[in-house]
Amino acid sequence: MHRTLQRQLRKHGLGPEHAPSADAWAAFVREVARSYDGHDEHRYLLQRAMEISAEEMRALAQSLASKNALLELEIQEHARTAAKLRYAATYDSLTGLPSRRALLDELAQRISLGARYAVLFLDLDDFKVINDSLGHEVGDHVLRGVADRLREALAPLDSLAPYASRLGGDEFVVLLRTVSDERSVLRAVERIRDAFTRPVVAGQQSFALSASVGMLIGKPEYLDAHDVLRDADTAMYRAKVSGKGRCAVFNDYMHAENLDRMRLIQDLWHGIERREFVLAYQPVIDATNGRLAAFETLLRWKHPTRGMVQPDNFIEVAEHSGAIVDIGRQAIDSACAQLAGWTRLGVLGDSVRVSVNISKRQMSEDGILDHIFDACARHRLSPERLILEVTESTVMADLERVSAVLDTARAHGCLVYMDDFGTGLSSISTLHRMPFDTVKIDRSFVRHVSTDRAHAAVVQSIVTLAHNLGLTVVAEGVEHLGQLAQLQACDCDFVQGYLFSRPLPVEDVPDWVAASDSAFKLDSIRDAA
Ligand code: C2E
Ligand code: CA
Ligand code: CA
Repeated sequence: MHRTLQRQLRKHGLGPEHAPSADAWAAFVREVARSYDGHDEHRYLLQRAMEISAEEMRALAQSLASKNALLELEIQEHARTAAKLRYAATYDSLTGLPSRRALLDELAQRISLGARYAVLFLDLDDFKVINDSLGHEVGDHVLRGVADRLREALAPLDSLAPYASRLGGDEFVVLLRTVSDERSVLRAVERIRDAFTRPVVAGQQSFALSASVGMLIGKPEYLDAHDVLRDADTAMYRAKVSGKGRCAVFNDYMHAENLDRMRLIQDLWHGIERREFVLAYQPVIDATNGRLAAFETLLRWKHPTRGMVQPDNFIEVAEHSGAIVDIGRQAIDSACAQLAGWTRLGVLGDSVRVSVNISKRQMSEDGILDHIFDACARHRLSPERLILEVTESTVMADLERVSAVLDTARAHGCLVYMDDFGTGLSSISTLHRMPFDTVKIDRSFVRHVSTDRAHAAVVQSIVTLAHNLGLTVVAEGVEHLGQLAQLQACDCDFVQGYLFSRPLPVEDVPDWVAASDSAFKLDSIRDAA
C-alpha cells in the first residue's frame, strides 16, 4: 500500500487495528480527494509513463513482427529442406523409384495389415560388365532405362497394386501389394521378363539385358520386412546360380540352407581362433625319375562336432565371407614352419618344395606378399622352396594386378603354378602372357587320358605348348598305372595323385618319406601294371 495513503489512514484512525467509523471514513475520502486535486503533476507523469510504455510496446511489437517474418522464412526453408531430405530418403535419385527405406516401410505396412502380398527381387545379369567396361555414366543410363521398363511392364497390373523400388546397384524390388492368387504373380514375372526382351538403349548403344528374379509369396509368419527381403534375395541368388534370366521361388528349404550357411560362417571364425585348420600333405613326384619333388598342402578342418571337414565343404563359404584370408595366413605359416622343421631334422632334402593354394580373395588382399615373405623369414625358409598355386580364374579376374603380384613373388624365388588348367576361361594362347612356371593339368583331363584318345591328345598338346613356352607340367589326380604310363608318354614332368599317395596327415609324412625311399621305382610300378 502507498505510504502516503497509509499515513492518511492512520491519521483518520483507520486501519486493521481500528474498527472503521463512518465519519472517519468520509473525512478520509475527502482528504484523499483534495490531496490528489493538488497533485495534477502526478497524474500527468503517470499518464506520460503509460503513453511512453505504449510507444515502446508498439516499437517492440514492430520489431517482433519483423523478427517473426524472418522466423517465418526460416521455418519455410527448414520445411523445404526437410521435404527434400524426406524425398531423398524415400526416392532413389537416379531412377526416381522409391528407395529401400520406402520399400521397407511399405512392406511393413502390408505385414501389419495382414495383407496378401508378393515380392519380386530382381538383379540384372552381368551388369557389372557394362559398368566396368563402359563406365558408370553408361551404367547409370542403363539403370534409368531399366526403371522405365519396369514402370512400363507394371502399369497394366493395377489389380496387383505394384510398387517398384530400387534397392541400390542393379537390384530392384517389386512389391505386389494386393495378391489374390499366385498365378497373377507369375503373370507379373512374365511381363517383367518380356519387358527385357527388347534391348535397353543408353545413348548410342543398346544392351540386351536379362534379370534374375527371386519370388516370394508373403506368409503370416513374416513379422519383419527385413526378413522378407532377405528371403527374396536368397531366392534371387538361387535363380542366378542356375543361369541367366531365371526365376526361383523362395521356399523354407532355402531358409534352412541359409541358416546352415550362417552357422558355418560363424564356425569358420571360431575355427580360426581355435586353430582348427590343419594341412594334409600330398606328394608330387618327378615323372622322369620317381623322386619326391614337393608336397602340395591341402586344408582340412578339424571341427569339434562336424569331424574332419574337406575343403569342398567350406572353401567356397570361407572365400565368400572373407575368412579364407585368415585361414590362408595360418596355412602359409604352418606350411613354412613344417617344411623348415622337416629339413632341419633331415626328414626332407632341401630340394623338396611345399606348395600352397592361394584363392582369389587372398590374391586380392594387399598384404599377401608381405605375409608370405615374412613367414619364410620367420621360419628361415628360402622363398625358393615355396610354390604358389593360383587358378587361371584368379588371374583372369584381375590380370594386371595379379600378374604384378606373381611377378614379384617369382622375383623373390617363389615358383608359381597355374592350378586346374583347362577348366577356366583362358585359352592356351594367353598362357605366355601370364607369370607362371608350371601348369597343373586338371584332374578331369587326367581321368580319361588312358582310355580316351581325345583326352590324350589334349594333354599332349598342353604339354607340348607349355614346354615350348618354357613351362613345366604337373598332372594331378593320377590314380592308375595306365594314366601314369600315358602321361609319361606325353612327356609330362610331374605327377600327383592317389597312385602315389593320398593327402597325408602331417604326422604320417616322415614315415611315408622313409618308406618311399625318396624315389618311386616308377619302372617297377610300370612292370607291375
Ligand atoms: P586342388 O588345388 O585342385 O587340389 C587337388 C584336389 O584333388 C585335392 O582335393 C586332392 O585331395 C584331390 N586329389 C589329389 N589326388 C587325387 C586323385 O588321385 N584322385 C582324386 N579323385 N582326387 C585327388 P581337396 O583336398 O579336397 O581340395 C579341394 C580343393 O580345395 C583344392 O583343389 C583347392 O582348390 C582347395 N583347397 C585345398 N586346400 C586349400 C588351401 O590351403 N587354400 C585354398 N585357398 N584352397 C585350398
Ligand atoms: Ca592345387
Ligand atoms: Ca587342381
